Amino acid sequence: AAAAAVVVHRRMKKSGKWVKVMEIVKDFEEKCATPVSRLKQVSDAMIVEMHAGLASEGGSKLKMLISYVDNLPTGREKGLFYALDLGGTNFRVLRLQLGGRGRGILNQQFVEVSIPPNLMTGTSNALFDFIVAELAKFVSQESSDYEPNPGRPRELGFTFSFPVMQTSIASGILLKWTKGFSINDAVGRDVVAELTEAMERRGLDMRVSALVNDTVGTLAGARFVNNDAVAAVILGTGSNAAYVERANAIPKWHGPLPRSGEMVINMEWGNFKSAHLPLSEYDLEMDAESLNPGEQIYEKVLSGMYLGEIVRRVLCRMAQEAAFFGDTVPPKLKVPFALGTPAISAMHQDTSPDLKVVANRFKELFEISNTSLQMRKVIVQICNIVATRGARLAAAGILSILRKMGRDTIKDAEKQRMVVGMDGGLYEHYTKYRKCLEKCLNELLGEEVSETIELQLSTDGSGIGAAILAASHSRYHAR
Ligand code: BGC
Ligand code: MG
Repeated sequence: AAAAAVVVHRRMKKSGKWVKVMEIVKDFEEKCATPVSRLKQVSDAMIVEMHAGLASEGGSKLKMLISYVDNLPTGREKGLFYALDLGGTNFRVLRLQLGGRGRGILNQQFVEVSIPPNLMTGTSNALFDFIVAELAKFVSQESSDYEPNPGRPRELGFTFSFPVMQTSIASGILLKWTKGFSINDAVGRDVVAELTEAMERRGLDMRVSALVNDTVGTLAGARFVNNDAVAAVILGTGSNAAYVERANAIPKWHGPLPRSGEMVINMEWGNFKSAHLPLSEYDLEMDAESLNPGEQIYEKVLSGMYLGEIVRRVLCRMAQEAAFFGDTVPPKLKVPFALGTPAISAMHQDTSPDLKVVANRFKELFEISNTSLQMRKVIVQICNIVATRGARLAAAGILSILRKMGRDTIKDAEKQRMVVGMDGGLYEHYTKYRKCLEKCLNELLGEEVSETIELQLSTDGSGIGAAILAASHSRYHAR
């Protein structure tokens, strides 16, 4: 294999194809450039859209959805609550025993179930019946310690991580699907009603007390343990953010002014789009061929579902135009989404001197065994370009929230700490991505301000936060 690699590489060099490879890389790198000046333009544009989205319904690509959460947890929540967390390829069912009076979570159990891919593009009933069957199993297997009092159904927080126009804390209409889901008959319907009907079909007596986006759940979970939490960001399969807004800065809110004076806003930042976003032809092609062309453009340049796919597309171009992997394009490399972000992360962080991880992944995934060291270096470089752009653009998004909240500058007297709850596999597992994001945020904010801002990983905060919000919106328990 090593000898074959040398042959391929030598041939590429001789034929001038290596020059072509370097051209493709250089061109891609330029298109993806994210100098600070560019990130500030992106952030300016995002802030303009934030204002527009808060001003009127449909006023912006940024939906700035009202969550109906106007009181975040205090830590005094108490009782037994459940959560259902649906938003990616897996869903989770959780049970939480909350101690009350700052005693936190006394007890917590969960199961995680992967969603069969056919259900992601089938019917609403099929999806909800499947979920409810798992929920019923979870409940039926619990000990009698958890028997609810007569006449009091078990209460559930429902984390549903797609854009939903809420009509109350426990109801809301699905606006559209994202992240590879596409179930047409659910769009425009109340997802709590869909879930509740599936529970009735199954004879499961549970009640949804809170419907929340995962960003809102993560923020609630972060606040439960830390009073300084004021925003949350998800960097996982998809991406989004939520933050605490002043209620009187939300012109489109015509309801009663909350006593707290605050309202959590689910930005749906994944759908942000701007001429300032650095996009390459690979991004445009990926978008055009996606399930939701023209939508979720910001999400498509920075979230876990797409990073690997962008890298794959660049490699395909190099295979076609510069015979990067030999005379033909390896067939497995042509398969959309064949290169996942976990593989990108592993290759990008390969520290072995001969880039063994890269070599092995290409063998396993694509049956490509003729990579030379120089070729592997190029592959790592492409991963680096894609991850760096994504992480820096995510930092620009966080900067926008801080600026909107007036927390990007410091008057010496008010060095108040601020916590941003972070969740999602991309942030959690892709260390280089995370480090790059943090470094970029420091660059954007300056040392003094960034010292007061803490990004705090809150693994599975979204489900926990939903159960806690079910507690604070419980119909049966004293608050
Ligand atoms: C959805 C958001 C969600 C995010 C992270 C996006 O695709 O539109 O509602 O918060 O993914 O899960
Ligand atoms: Mg999640």
